[in-house]
Amino acid sequence: MSGLISRLRQLRQSDQAIAASVRATLLESLYASPQSLIIGAITSSGITGIVAYVSGNRWLVVCALAIALVAGIRMIDALKRPGRAARTRSSKNSWAARQEFIYRAGALGYSALLGTFGLLTLVHSDDGVLQLLAVTTTIGYAAGIAGRNAGRPWIALSQLCFASLPLTVGLVVSMQPLKMALAAVIVLFVVAMMDITLQTYGVILKATLVSREKAALAEHHAAVARRDDLTGVANRTAFREQFESRLQALGHGDRRLAIFWIDLDRFKEINDSFGHLAGNALLAGVAKRLDTEFGATGIVARLGGDEFAVICDVVSQTEAVAKGERIIALVEQPVHHDGRALCVGASLGIALAPSDGIDADTLLKNADLALYRAKESGRGQMRFYEPLMDEKIERTRDLGAEMQGALKRGEFHLMFQPIFDLTGQRILSCETLLRWTNRRYGAISPAEFIPIAEENGLIVVIGDWVIREACRTANDWPKDVTVAVNLSPIQLRSTNMPTVIMSALAASGLAADRLELEVTESVLLEDIDASLAALDAINRLDVRTTLDDFGTGYSSLSYLTKFPFQTLKIDRSFITDLEQSPASVAIVQTVIELAAKLGMQTVAEGVETQAQLEQLRRTRCDAVQGFLLAHPMPASMVMTMLAGKDVKASGRS
Ligand code: C2E
Ligand code: CA
Ligand code: CA
Repeated sequence: MSGLISRLRQLRQSDQAIAASVRATLLESLYASPQSLIIGAITSSGITGIVAYVSGNRWLVVCALAIALVAGIRMIDALKRPGRAARTRSSKNSWAARQEFIYRAGALGYSALLGTFGLLTLVHSDDGVLQLLAVTTTIGYAAGIAGRNAGRPWIALSQLCFASLPLTVGLVVSMQPLKMALAAVIVLFVVAMMDITLQTYGVILKATLVSREKAALAEHHAAVARRDDLTGVANRTAFREQFESRLQALGHGDRRLAIFWIDLDRFKEINDSFGHLAGNALLAGVAKRLDTEFGATGIVARLGGDEFAVICDVVSQTEAVAKGERIIALVEQPVHHDGRALCVGASLGIALAPSDGIDADTLLKNADLALYRAKESGRGQMRFYEPLMDEKIERTRDLGAEMQGALKRGEFHLMFQPIFDLTGQRILSCETLLRWTNRRYGAISPAEFIPIAEENGLIVVIGDWVIREACRTANDWPKDVTVAVNLSPIQLRSTNMPTVIMSALAASGLAADRLELEVTESVLLEDIDASLAALDAINRLDVRTTLDDFGTGYSSLSYLTKFPFQTLKIDRSFITDLEQSPASVAIVQTVIELAAKLGMQTVAEGVETQAQLEQLRRTRCDAVQGFLLAHPMPASMVMTMLAGKDVKASGRS
């Protein structure tokens, strides 16, 4: 007995200590099986009704009616309980507090009425059968309650007492030995039932806590699986889900959804120069900033590598521009790591829903196309998706993919365009011009495919092949005819360039001084020291270098003194202008004179008319190249021409 009392004390403390949400779950167990409540209510109010009717006692009738009324109310309450899913956590807690009060009032009232009914039957009726019915109904009810309501032990224990104690009083006041013995048995029974209730409660509470822990753990794991490990923002999976639900919620109003696809500029440089840890810190820093600004109202995700996405509501394109500018500004702020300030920029591709698409796939594809455009136009740019982008960008991508196996499939071949002396009679050199005829796209201009090859790096292997082929072809020409090969800046600065040249010369047997490498003016601006070193290395091999397209870039004449070029090729734009513009005549004249003073040869390219040729003769340029004299032609035609036969008309590019 004393053990029971101390456990009751403990119960009072522990029940107050459990979380409101756990209590709500336990309360739900009271409503878990409305059938048992309904069966109990119907049977007990039915029996009390019968007992009252048979006894004909006024008090019993009143009490039986009250029991039936409370039973009805409790049945309605049990059945109309609102759906579990509809409740949020906070509304669940307030629902629990209110509902516990209602349930307790009903349960205690009902138990007290049943107990009172037993007491009244014992007092007002002499019929042993009626007394038996009343007593067993009440005790049976109390026994059922002890187990059924153990989730809320105070309710169960109070019900037990409220039902059985009036009954015990009724038995004791009869002063009959057998009934008094029964009263003692009932008291012991109540104590035993209390013990069972407390034990059952312990088991239910433990099970509830364990299942809640498991659910919390599962929730935690699910959240982790949807986060990007490095930055903590949403990963691709979570991004996709959230994006789709935002699209569904978009509706038909004025609201639009802006998708910003972000690519960090110069991230690779940071990673390469300062290491992966610095790169990781930078990504985490950028992600945090974006999340702070857009995370609360929109979606921030890392899509992989140095690509992020931000999705947020906008009302207009102007607002999208402002948000895009904000993203760029946020990314541009330095991230401090290990005593260093790491700086990157951002390129953005923007698509708007619903105007640029209504499904996630289309919108992402369009934002990606816009990003591609943004990157094409330089760093720190943003571009909105435009329907026409698709075609050009897709072609560029397809060509990039097709280029992968093109060399193996033999899709490349070389054309050669002769360069003549001023008389136009003698071929001094031939410029190698690469051609690509693709299985799907047919002939593609080098102006289109060379930038793609430079972008995907294939220019290095393709360029090596060009050098080898050019040397092999030129070796069959007379010894005084040289061959010129165009070199991309990427090739020029690749460290094994000298090796490639040497092996091409060795394999073909061509003398080094018969090979000329043409590089465009833009090379000089990109990385002066590296370019200078590369050009020096080439010259040391005895291979000549030509500055191509001179006059198109921004290089000043002073560069000419710095760089070791043997030949200077005046750009076609000056030659075209020669006839109409005296200024062009003056420029060409000055360039030729300066080059001569610096010991350089000059070639005029793009000569198309006789008048241009005459003018160039007057300015005393060293060599001329252009459609007037010869178009680019296959190697076989070069051989025919070198053999002295005129092929001007047939050599077409
Ligand atoms: P480029 O080095 O300036 O080559 C001269 C371009 O002008 C050639 O175009 C040639 O066909 C064209 N051309 C020659 N004479 C005339 C003329 O009188 N009038 C006009 N309108 N054009 C003339 P192509 O073959 O289409 O080459 C374009 C560019 O592609 C080249 O410009 C060069 O920068 C690049 N390229 C070609 N082959 C290679 C290569 O093997 N490697 C690299 N890196 N670039 C190459
Ligand atoms: Ca050239
Ligand atoms: Ca050129």
